[in-house]
Amino acid sequence: MNEFALIDAYFKRLSESTGALLSQRTSISPATLGIGDDCALLSVPAGMQLAVSADTLIRGVHFPDNTAPFDIGYKSLAVNLSDLAAMGAEPAWFTLCITLNGQTEQWVEAFCAGMASVLQASPIQLIGGDTTRGALSISVQVMGLVPAGRALTRAGAQVGDDIYVSGCIGEAAVGLALAQGRAGDWRDLDQSAMLARLNRPQPRVGLGCALRDQASACIDVSDGLLADLNHVLVQSQVGASLDLDSIPATRALPLMQSITSGDDYELCFTAPPGCRDAIGAIAEQQGIALTRIGSITSDRGMRDRAGNPLTPAGYTHF
Ligand code: ADP
Ligand code: MG
Repeated sequence: MNEFALIDAYFKRLSESTGALLSQRTSISPATLGIGDDCALLSVPAGMQLAVSADTLIRGVHFPDNTAPFDIGYKSLAVNLSDLAAMGAEPAWFTLCITLNGQTEQWVEAFCAGMASVLQASPIQLIGGDTTRGALSISVQVMGLVPAGRALTRAGAQVGDDIYVSGCIGEAAVGLALAQGRAGDWRDLDQSAMLARLNRPQPRVGLGCALRDQASACIDVSDGLLADLNHVLVQSQVGASLDLDSIPATRALPLMQSITSGDDYELCFTAPPGCRDAIGAIAEQQGIALTRIGSITSDRGMRDRAGNPLTPAGYTHF
């Protein structure tokens, strides 16, 4: 199949079905002009800001060589939705730049099915992209909408704020260890659940939007809890005291490994202590555990409750 036939058969179809889903399930309008012209045309409603983010997934770096195409499609969209969640933005549109290396039509079909399964939970319309040949890589750019001035940035944490994390940390790292066949005590584990945490992360889109009224700063945990929290601390010019025992982490790995491994796609956020009840209500309404793990301090850096410094180690490419 050539480039244009692929676009027509798979990407254009995905665009049409996702446009329909977007208008059925959200108040956001599909693109005025979608796939097929030189540019797509979008209308940003008055009073809203466009939140834009991109992530590239490369075979052998972001996913093991043997990852199923469904999971690659799933994850490349899910990790981008996680960035919108971290800003408190509602997903609207995305572009897909895909470089293929002799993948079959069945591969592309499964890849699109993976994407389609993510956007069942969080509708977002495919509006364009690029299709090329070379080493397999997928680059997705997402666009979301957030009421003007209300986005959750990394720079808003205040001294005295509580620090929270959603869900459970380190399960994707367990999944990676399993996928790579690494030795460990995996006997009591639900292995397929751990692999799903690696390959099919659930972007916390509803949670991010719900936190807009409470959180002072927010980030999604992609490189490791400590490393990502540290980005918030640096940009907010504050420090943190963490209660390590309270961190909701898998028991299958040592705690320090869980909180320095990537791919969790949970949200780490800060909020004033006066928001505790409201945050408890959000946890209940979203059906997601939100755990208080420490507080923001004026002393820079990260420390445990005993005052020992914590190193913000995490995954880096360079
Ligand atoms: P151009 O030569 O102007 O870059 P292309 O031939 O690359 O145009 O693409 C034709 C149309 O198909 C454009 O609207 C583009 O956005 C869309 N498109 C190409 N590849 C993809 C893709 N992988 N996913 C979605 N849309 C795509
Ligand atoms: Mg092109």
